[in-house]
Amino acid sequence: MIKEDFFPNNIVMGYSQIKDGPMQDMKNKKEFIKDIFSENGLIVNPTPVHGSDVLPVKNKRFDNQTEGDSIITTEKGVILSMAMADCFPIYFYDPVNKAIGLTHGGWKGLLKGIIENTVIQMKYNFNTNPEDLMVYIGPGICSKCFEVKKDAPEYFANPYSEIRMGIGDEKGKWFGNLSVEIYKRLLSIGCRKFESSGECTCCKEGVFSKTKKYYSFRRDKDYNRNLAFIGIK
Ligand SMILES: [Zn+2]
Repeated sequence: MIKEDFFPNNIVMGYSQIKDGPMQDMKNKKEFIKDIFSENGLIVNPTPVHGSDVLPVKNKRFDNQTEGDSIITTEKGVILSMAMADCFPIYFYDPVNKAIGLTHGGWKGLLKGIIENTVIQMKYNFNTNPEDLMVYIGPGICSKCFEVKKDAPEYFANPYSEIRMGIGDEKGKWFGNLSVEIYKRLLSIGCRKFESSGECTCCKEGVFSKTKKYYSFRRDKDYNRNLAFIGIK
């Protein structure tokens, strides 16, 4: 998935596939990004920990040992990237202040407010107005594949209203709908412009083949990861 028609031309972004190799490997990561993002930029690649910390990148410096689930910057030639499998990559672009963000959207981080924190930090650091923000939601686990424990409805309760949207009961099993959780939170913080790839990392097969397209933790039970990235040219 290299989505070129949602964000303007000055934004390079995408999500790796199985054919690009496992992206927890730094060598694969560098080669993959270099192929797409020709400029010799700084590759920012923190370790997602299902928390709510947002990391601003300034002065083209970043320690990749840092843990965090969201990265933001206004610097050209800085490539924000994070490896994941089944969690949703959420890409942000503020066309007014020329700022970008990348968020690791897993259920724990979502419930801790990683989306809201990202938008708040973009506002604080770059004067971003949420209404201007363009948000793209990449491939992640769909509600048919994401079976959760019986106590999950408590976790997915909407903190902003009485309505619980993120979860559904099917034949005695509970399934979490992370897409709905993401949209709900984007709307609650004032975002209005978004688009989604609609792809599931777990059940999606390739368009032209029957082979699996993305790594999936739920399906494969291993540690292979896809890479989400975004940069300003
Ligand atoms: Zn699925």
